[in-house]
Order: sequence, then C-alpha cells, then structure tokens
Amino acid sequence: MHTSSSGNNPPVAINKKLLPLLPKVDECLLILQHKDQLETVPRNSQKKATRDYINSIRQNILKGDEVSSTDLEKENFIPGLVEYILEKQKKRFRRVINGTGVIIHTNLGRSILPSKTMETLYEAGNRYSNLEFDLNTGQRGSRYSLVEELLCELTGAEAGLVVNNNAAAVLIVLETLAKSREVIVSRGQLVEIGGSFRIPDIMKRSGASLVEVGATNRTHLRDYEQAITEDTGLLLKVHCSNYRIVGFTKEVPNEELVRLGQNHGIPVMEDLGSGCFVDLSHFGLMKEPTVQEVVASGVDVVTFSGDKLLGGPQAGIIVGRKKIIDKIKKNPLNRALRIDKFTLAGLESILRLYPDETTALKTIPTLAMIAMPLDLVNKRAQRILRRLRRDLKGKCTFSIIDSVSRVGGGAMPEQNLPSKALALESADVNVSTLERTLRSQDVAVIGRIEDNRLLLDLRTVADDEIALLHETLVRVLS
Ligand SMILES: *Cc1c(COP(=O)(O)O)cnc(C)c1O
Repeated sequence: MHTSSSGNNPPVAINKKLLPLLPKVDECLLILQHKDQLETVPRNSQKKATRDYINSIRQNILKGDEVSSTDLEKENFIPGLVEYILEKQKKRFRRVINGTGVIIHTNLGRSILPSKTMETLYEAGNRYSNLEFDLNTGQRGSRYSLVEELLCELTGAEAGLVVNNNAAAVLIVLETLAKSREVIVSRGQLVEIGGSFRIPDIMKRSGASLVEVGATNRTHLRDYEQAITEDTGLLLKVHCSNYRIVGFTKEVPNEELVRLGQNHGIPVMEDLGSGCFVDLSHFGLMKEPTVQEVVASGVDVVTFSGDKLLGGPQAGIIVGRKKIIDKIKKNPLNRALRIDKFTLAGLESILRLYPDETTALKTIPTLAMIAMPLDLVNKRAQRILRRLRRDLKGKCTFSIIDSVSRVGGGAMPEQNLPSKALALESADVNVSTLERTLRSQDVAVIGRIEDNRLLLDLRTVADDEIALLHETLVRVLS
C-alpha cells in the first residue's frame, strides 16, 4: 500500500495502531453533557454526529492521513467534535446577499417577493383558508379559480391554470394535446435551459414525437406547412430564453403560424419561458413580446414561469383557449403537478400588483431592480464606499467601478444593464480566500472575482441590506 503524501508520515501499517486509541461514542457523549454550547442540541443529534465524526477520523487513519496519538486524546479530540456538532446544527437553507448583479439568479432563488406578499404567505401558512372551499356556495371549490380570473384579466386569455413550475406546464400541455402525436418545432428553438430541461427530452416524456423543421437560423412558414400530417397534434414555438440567433435569421410570426394552424385544425402553443406583463424596452432592454401580446396574436395556449420576469413564486402558468385549458384541468397529471397553497397565495398577491404598471414596477423586486436607474445604483454604492473607507482604513482598498448586471433566469440573454460594483482589494488577504470567507458567513455574501479583485454589484443588493453588508465586510476584513 501507499504511504501518505507528506514525507515524514508513518506508513499506513503504523497508522492502524492508532485505531484502538479512538475515543468511544459513549465516552464522548458523557463529556459532551457538560458542554454549555451543546445545551440546545438534542441528544440524538449529538449521538449521530459523534458517531459520524469518529468514523470520519477512522477513515482518515485508514487512508494514512496525518493523525497522531495526541490528536486522539480527549482534551484534543473533543473541541473538534464540538465544532463539528455545532456546524451540523447550522441551518442549511441560508440567506445570502446577492452581489452578482444577476437579478433572476436561479442558484440564488430566482425572484424575491415583496414584503406585502410575504404577509399573505404567513397567513396562508398559520391559518386555515378557503383553498378549495367556495365561500359563496359553501361547497367544495377549485384552488385554481382563485387566480384564474386575474390571469384572464391581465393576459386577455379565455382561461388559465397554474401548476408547479413552467417545466411542468410544458409537460402537461404536450401530454394533453399531443400524446402519441407529432409536434412541429423549429430547429432554432430546441432549447436547453439549466437543470436539464430540454425540449426534445420533455417531448419524449410527454409521449409526443418531435418533428424538427427549418434550419438553425431560418425557419419559414412552408417548413411547418410541409411537415403537417394527419398525426400532427400541435405547432410549438419555444422562446430562445438563454441564447440568441443573430445574423441571417428568420422566424415565422405568430399570426402566420396561427393562420396555418387554424386552416388545418391544429392548435398552436408558445412556451414563453420568462413571460412578462410589462414592456421592459423602456429600461434599455430588447423588446420582447409581453404575454398579453402573445395571447392577442391568436396563439391557443401560452406557458410561462411564475418566478422569472413575473417576479412571483415558483409556478408554471398556462393561459389560453377555454376548451384547451378545461382539457388540461381534467388531465390526471394535473393532480401530480398541482401547486401548493403558499404558491397560490403568493401568486395572487403578485398578480394583484399588475393592473397598475407603476405599482408593479415599484413594488415587485425583480422589476424594480431592472428599472432602477444607474444613478440610484451609484448612490447606493457611494454610501457603502464611504462607510467602508471610514471603518477599514488601510486594511483594504475599495473603489466603485462600472459593472454590468444581467436579468438572468433565462431571460434577455446577452443584454447588459449598466451597473456599479464595489471592488475590494486587500494586500493581506488573498482574493479567493476573501471570496470563500464571505461565502461562509451566516448570511453569505456572494460576489465575483475579476482581475484579482472581489466585485459586489450593487443593483442586486437592497438598500436595507447595506448595513448588514457593511457589518459583514468590517467583521471579515478587520
Ligand atoms: C425557464 C424555462 C422553462 C422552465 O421553467 P421553470 O419555471 O424553470 O420550470 C421552460 N421553457 C423555457 C423556454 C424557459 O425559459
């Protein structure tokens, strides 16, 4: 067998002699009883953690890692164990401060909700509700009816339905309308988004077969037309959420596709991905059709996410013709993909902010961050810069630099929102150590490293987080 990598370590055979010296679980637990820090840690959790800890040290010994007999003496062993137990007790689901500048950051929880919505969620959780109870008739009601009317009002659609997420929405529409049938899609729209959602794969799962038409950059109406057979169940458009095809390109306008579908009695679906009710081109972003516009173009069924540009909770929203939505509602899959009461309560609260666009832009954090003018981001940046320069004089160099934020969440790819970032540079602390330390705080601070500096984009840091960010930086850097 091999010996451990550092030269003067004993070979594994000698290491094995350490095994009998390992403290026993019961001995450790007796000592832990007197540790005040562990007072609130349940005995069962202590026992499990102690067993795991001893096991991991045993593995280290067997591997030939550097472990000495003094490491295994109680007074040296117990502090490490206590630390391990406390670490295990730490909440896994943690708050982070998003200094990445990516507004809908899928890894950091996508959209964050307005405080008003959070009040609704609280009540949905700790009180009974009319989730499936019709207060007018006193009879059983449908959970979907709570948001359907609002969805129709906002999008102009005849009917609507909400499921667990947009991937589920796409799956259930395909399964309902095109199982064992063919679905025609342009080659340029065979999207893969993060978390292994791919149009061809979801299509297979739904039991529909994919018929690709056109070329990657150009698809014509005649391509769809020539592919139609008596097995065609659906014409599908998919929004190129996270990429763009530029140059010599052609997509078929919705109106033409709808006319083609109507002529053949085939429904047309558009998976919008990050559907939005507000035209964001006023904020320097490319014009993308809103959900209302897509519905108005005559498309029969439209799907989009609740927690992307809509700025609400995770959900998949389906709007369209009543005949189709009714069919989807009756699909047994619907029960498996149904949304919970928190989502419904949260979604209703978000949708109620939309009839007045100014209110939506001001109160829905995702939209507010997109709409925030650069000079306000800069003011925020200057505020924290002043405080840090005052409190960490000589410990670290701070500056405010130009940065670019992104919408994220597979929306508006390749489009930049001008922003400002706090740049940190320390002569004493290596930048990747600094990044790691900030990431390991109780409220983690997430930034990015560029040119040997740590950058924190301030578009995605809320005003009421500046104090906490400042406090964390001072603690870590002083
Ligand atoms: C994001 C996205 C989905 C999946 O939506 P989730 O809400 O993440 O399940 C599906 N289709 C497109 C085009 C998307 O952009």
